[in-house]
Amino acid sequence: MKKSIAFITLLSASLLFTACNTPQDDVITFSAMNTIMKIKTSGKGNAARKANQEVENAIVTLENLISTTKETSEVWKLNHNQGEMISVSADTVELATFSLKMAEESFGALNPCLYPVIKEWGFTTEEYKVPSPQVISELLNHTDYTKVKISENAISLEKDMMLDFGAVGKGYAGDRAICILREKGIESALLDLGGNIQVLGAKPDGSEWKIGIRNPWGGEAVAAVFVKDKAVVTSGGYERFFIDENGKKYIHIFNGETGYPVENDVSSVTIVCDSGLYADALSTTLVVLGKEKAIDFWKSHKDFDFIMLLEDKTLITTANLYYNHLQTIFPFTDMVVISDNN
Ligand code: AMP
Ligand code: MG
Repeated sequence: MKKSIAFITLLSASLLFTACNTPQDDVITFSAMNTIMKIKTSGKGNAARKANQEVENAIVTLENLISTTKETSEVWKLNHNQGEMISVSADTVELATFSLKMAEESFGALNPCLYPVIKEWGFTTEEYKVPSPQVISELLNHTDYTKVKISENAISLEKDMMLDFGAVGKGYAGDRAICILREKGIESALLDLGGNIQVLGAKPDGSEWKIGIRNPWGGEAVAAVFVKDKAVVTSGGYERFFIDENGKKYIHIFNGETGYPVENDVSSVTIVCDSGLYADALSTTLVVLGKEKAIDFWKSHKDFDFIMLLEDKTLITTANLYYNHLQTIFPFTDMVVISDNN
């Protein structure tokens, strides 16, 4: 009898040991930052489940800080002030500091202060309208990002100015998620934060993740990139736009000089680099810059890779992606490979 009890104890202990150590996937889907987010994590026992829950909590907490529409957020408080310094969290300070640095580096192509204009066009409420040129030029007076003041833990905007982290928030959230997963000992995860893809490590079998590049003109993925430990972030007018009664299309990415939605021949830009935050900022920035200036920007930085798709079905990409990570699927009319020499 004693022997059989000992045997059963041993058996259940070894079963428990096996259960705790076999890799188990956990998939979590939730809605935050105006998108559906999906995270697929591999871990031992229930580690993946626990880590994913922590990630969801962290992203929801972040959203509650930086939402432009939630009246309890820090960004809301900043956007409805009278020019005074307001104490904010380290996250808000970091996002503001980074966005302003990117604004300077891109000569205002990325501008976190365009919200008064974007809001007037109805992109916040989806009650779209084309504002009058007078209204646009008045609102542009309140979009000067050099007027944002940041101290260690406080920010001030001038009256009528408004911050918007719409171009960078999901990338920041992705980096936070990867950090939490790493801390929890997770070695493999795939994050889809509404088109912002970030991967931790390799696939559980050790091979690279295959990330599809969406077709901005509609249809199947146009290409795929094979990566480990990377952010793959895409921006394009196809994500959010409206069409007026004359059939003219207005996209959600704005030219801060004119106060009008960007109008150029760029259909989408995908950035591949280590940081989700940098990738998110850059994907928006390169759409605004357009083909030539985007290539110049890459040449003066070279700390990221990109794929730019033009309306005429041309693909422009960096040599590193083209030769080492990219598989094209769509019959592009032309493929331009950018390197140090051209
Ligand atoms: P993304 O989807 O990352 O390209 O970001 C687009 C969002 O960023 C928009 O919905 C706006 O909230 C905001 N945005 C639009 N144009 C700009 C711009 N030129 N600079 C900074 N943020 C922008
Ligand atoms: Mg972006």
